[in-house]
Amino acid sequence: MLTVETSRTWLSLFIEKLEKNENYLNTLDAPIGDGDHGTNMVRGARELRSKLAQEPPADLPELFVTAGWSFIQKTGGTAGLLYGQAFLHMARAFQESADLLRGLAGGLEGIQKVGHAELKEKTLVDVWIPVMEDIRNQRLSLERINEHVISTKDFQAKKGRAAYVSEQLNGHIDPGAASCGYFFEAMLEAGVY
Ligand code: ADP
Ligand code: MG
Ligand code: MG
Repeated sequence: MLTVETSRTWLSLFIEKLEKNENYLNTLDAPIGDGDHGTNMVRGARELRSKLAQEPPADLPELFVTAGWSFIQKTGGTAGLLYGQAFLHMARAFQESADLLRGLAGGLEGIQKVGHAELKEKTLVDVWIPVMEDIRNQRLSLERINEHVISTKDFQAKKGRAAYVSEQLNGHIDPGAASCGYFFEAMLEAGVY
């Protein structure tokens, strides 16, 4: 169930997964970007953890507003803006109702408003959209999430730094898709879904 408590667990698990996989995410970003995706995400994640410890959010929208600003301010780069906008738009959706799918639809809108990425352009959108589809069809699992992440291997990047290098064609997983996979793994493990 989606509450401020379960969502705090969701985001805390996301933070832990980013920390645990910082080097792996940097490694994914090295051949097709500038090798900093893990480090960028961990900066935002740690900011979020310290903000939550200082001032516990009163409700779901407040939690996601805090998450949004943490990533915008500390992650920086493309991913900071994308995740930041996603969380701020989720917060807005949660003001209307505590509905997971509506929240995620809001998040996607935020991501696409900033990045204009469509499916199969090798970005986190390639995980976000199929995960929403899996939730609708009640078939989301860790395996499905992993499959969506791995599917980005075969896509040709049209957005971001990866669009400028040829290595992207060489079966590389998109780093943003991988971090997004951790976000949804954390969602499953937190029992939000
Ligand atoms: P930077 O490229 O500024 O170093 P990061 O390395 O932190 O930023 O993030 C790169 C990730 O951002 C990519 O792997 C991709 O998933 C995502 N990304 C880049 N451009 C876009 C976009 N226009 N729309 C959606 N996602 C994007
Ligand atoms: Mg990068
Ligand atoms: Mg960078």
